[in-house]
Amino acid sequence: MSIDIEKIRKDFPILNQNINDKPFVYLDSAATTQKPIQVIEAMGIYNKLSNANIHRGAYTLSIRATEMYDEARKRVKEFINAPYDESIIFTKNTTEALNLVAFSYGLENVNSGDEIVVLISEHHSNILPWQMVAKKNNAKLKFVYLNDDYTVDMKDFKEKVTEKTKIVAAAHISNVLGTINPIKEIIDYAHEMNAIAVIDGAQAAPHTKVDIEKLNADFYAFSGHKMLGPMGIGVLYGRRELLEKMGPFLSGGDMIEYVEEESSTFAELPYKFEAGTQNVEAAVGLKVAIDYIEEIGIEKIKNHEMELTKYAMEKMNEIPYITIYGTKDIDKKSSVISFNIENIHPHDVATILDSYGVALRAGHHCAQPLMKYLGINATCRVSFYLYNTIEEVDIFIESLKNVRKWLGYGS
Ligand code: PMP
Repeated sequence: MSIDIEKIRKDFPILNQNINDKPFVYLDSAATTQKPIQVIEAMGIYNKLSNANIHRGAYTLSIRATEMYDEARKRVKEFINAPYDESIIFTKNTTEALNLVAFSYGLENVNSGDEIVVLISEHHSNILPWQMVAKKNNAKLKFVYLNDDYTVDMKDFKEKVTEKTKIVAAAHISNVLGTINPIKEIIDYAHEMNAIAVIDGAQAAPHTKVDIEKLNADFYAFSGHKMLGPMGIGVLYGRRELLEKMGPFLSGGDMIEYVEEESSTFAELPYKFEAGTQNVEAAVGLKVAIDYIEEIGIEKIKNHEMELTKYAMEKMNEIPYITIYGTKDIDKKSSVISFNIENIHPHDVATILDSYGVALRAGHHCAQPLMKYLGINATCRVSFYLYNTIEEVDIFIESLKNVRKWLGYGS
């Protein structure tokens, strides 16, 4: 059974408008997804009827808001099949979640001479925090490179991860190449070498079933805004034994047990890591986004996206001046396609496509080390989600064919 695309399109009013007098074709879901009305309305209703600061009030509205926040945490836990509610920390986004791990775990557990291993295809969010730890603690940061088909070179990975490795940091799915990395193998090997595995799931949680119990990741991070939810809420799953031993990342209100003049003790999990007023409205929105995804079914969503991706790749491969950066093996790929048009800057491509109503991303995609490794400065990137259609792929392909004509090339 395929998804009911007509019904889904009705849930996303933003997609049903004209941009530059053309039907809007949104192909940038890897940057952020659009929100269904169910999410938008749930946040509106929360603000109209239930808004209050959580935890601190003995009055009904505060208790209700607290319950809604806790319910959202439970929903996230179920969504990724994590073992405990306390293992789910709400953050601002993936970036903050990964920084939390670097500051609270990394700085305390990585020592001089130790090593941290990251993939060359990582987003800056999963590189810079580790550069910081390596610099501060005099540790070594090592990069794992790619095979010719843009997949992770697992031979290189196994050579780079040694008994000196304390942390392996890897994305489940690359935001540039769209590769689904062999994440279970990466996590298992990290554990075999007594390292912990920090997984950036920003591009995976929206598109594939994440099963924390099966994956056995030590930390797993993702963002609400990439999975139909609002901006301003992210998730860090952490193994409870590790979280319990870690000190807080941010300190102040709400994350304490007792505070004295000179010292303090901290609240239990997960509150130790949730300092200050939390984004309750966004948590409520995230819960409804998960409900929406699960009601349709993440497998069905994935099949739909992959149908679009396969079709788009076939059409793009017919155009001789296009280079695609990513594996051709559709089973190892998610719904992200990075490409370049010979002799044309990606920003020009994006600007020209905008005039056709097509929104795609151009740039380094927060992955400059990968760009340098590939010998390029930037790419164009399209990314599909459950609300995109085959007709939209056709519009994208047709506009793509016009880019070189616009710039004075014959074809
Ligand atoms: N990691 C990956 C793989 C991403 O695609 C992104 C978003 N582009 C991030 C991390 C950062 O996410 P956020 O901006 O929500 O923190």
